[in-house]
Amino acid sequence: MQIDLGPRLDAIKGKAREVATGVTAKHAAQHDRDYSMPVETLSALKDIGLLTISAPKRLGGDETGMVNLEEPLGFLLVVEELARADMSAAHCFQVHAHTSQLLSAHASKEQQDRWFAPLFDHGGILSWTGGEPGRTARGQYNMVSEATPRNNGFVLNGIKQYGTNASEGAWNVVTVSLPDMAPAEGFLMVLIPKDAKGFTVDAEWWRPTGMRACVSPKLILQDLFVPHEDILQGPGFYPKSKLGARWHLGFSASHLGAAQGLLDFAIDYLPKRGTAGNPHSQRAIGEMKMRVAAARNMVYHAAALWQAKRIKEAEEYSLMAKLYSISTAEWMINETIRIVGSTALLETFPLNRMMRDIHVHSTHANLHNTAQSIGKSALGMNFDSTEQQ
Ligand SMILES: Cc1cc2nc3c(=O)[nH]c(=O)nc-3n(C[C@H](O)[C@H](O)[C@H](O)COP(=O)(O)OP(=O)(O)OC[C@H]3O[C@@H](n4cnc5c(N)ncnc54)[C@H](O)[C@@H]3O)c2cc1C
Repeated sequence: MQIDLGPRLDAIKGKAREVATGVTAKHAAQHDRDYSMPVETLSALKDIGLLTISAPKRLGGDETGMVNLEEPLGFLLVVEELARADMSAAHCFQVHAHTSQLLSAHASKEQQDRWFAPLFDHGGILSWTGGEPGRTARGQYNMVSEATPRNNGFVLNGIKQYGTNASEGAWNVVTVSLPDMAPAEGFLMVLIPKDAKGFTVDAEWWRPTGMRACVSPKLILQDLFVPHEDILQGPGFYPKSKLGARWHLGFSASHLGAAQGLLDFAIDYLPKRGTAGNPHSQRAIGEMKMRVAAARNMVYHAAALWQAKRIKEAEEYSLMAKLYSISTAEWMINETIRIVGSTALLETFPLNRMMRDIHVHSTHANLHNTAQSIGKSALGMNFDSTEQQ
């Protein structure tokens, strides 16, 4: 039985599915080969109004998502459907949507007018780069990239990495530290326009095994001046807001979609190959279907908890949904290979790309940390769901 989403969410899911099958799937292999962005998908999403699903209402968007908790499932359905065809395209949309949600809720009207203008004008996308070499070990708010106060703003120096969308980004959120301040207190978010002086985007850096089309460059900040009007809120705002808890479900939806994509592939492939009669294959398909359905229920339920503003429960459930979706997608890689056989791994088929994408994308989260937080919560201990992304 399908989960009853209601007419609005059904329509969003249906529109995203059309883009995923009609556009995304057709270009995925080429972008994977070329390490190039899924520009056709982003353009198709703009044409049907989904690229602005989390942009401010007063500018023409739908203003939904995980920050204001208005219809959070909407954009997650788009992530899920895109990931079913191509996880890279889904991640480009996800980063853009998360950034839109952050800015719709926390930027001033004047800032939104400027930062969202390229999006409404020509589909200009947004990026958000927190990543830095060695950040995991230092702690997620401990940036080596620095912002030194100067005249009416700050001068930035440093190296960022993993900036999904930044090679195309019209505006780019970048995180830096203020000197001589504790990491969380001095943590600053700035917005950098595409052609800013001192902003170098090195897309050649992005040569991963999988997720090749979600081009996530290295960014070099060199004496880059950012005026006060391009600072989001102020120092310490992001750690204090605990917004890091809001992004787990995006990753859950992405792995859910990828798992469904593997199942779609196997169900299509086995009968064509004449091997659907194998009892072991039938058992595997049955178990895969069950786990994908369970993952979907968890993701949708977590979104409902957020919408009901049951925050603590929503945080814990989102971690569970993420852990379950990622481990399901990873488990399904092996199950799928066992039943389809080696010919399906040739480049003519999408399976090869899908497996590499899941492997690389799952490294975003340290699943042991995720499980530990869930365990702490179950044991009645304090847990901080912003600790890992
Ligand atoms: C496809 C893709 C897209 C991405 N897009 C973005 C983006 O748009 N914006 C962005 O900011 N970032 C993005 N990232 C980066 C991501 O959020 C992580 O910062 C990055 O994957 C960390 O990789 P690393 O090699 O630097 O890990 P390392 O820092 O080398 O850590 C490797 C491993 O060490 C272990 N570990 C060591 N110390 C600790 C500790 N103290 N706590 C927890 N674990 C520890 C963990 O198992 C961890 O996985 C993206 C990553 C991928 C793969």
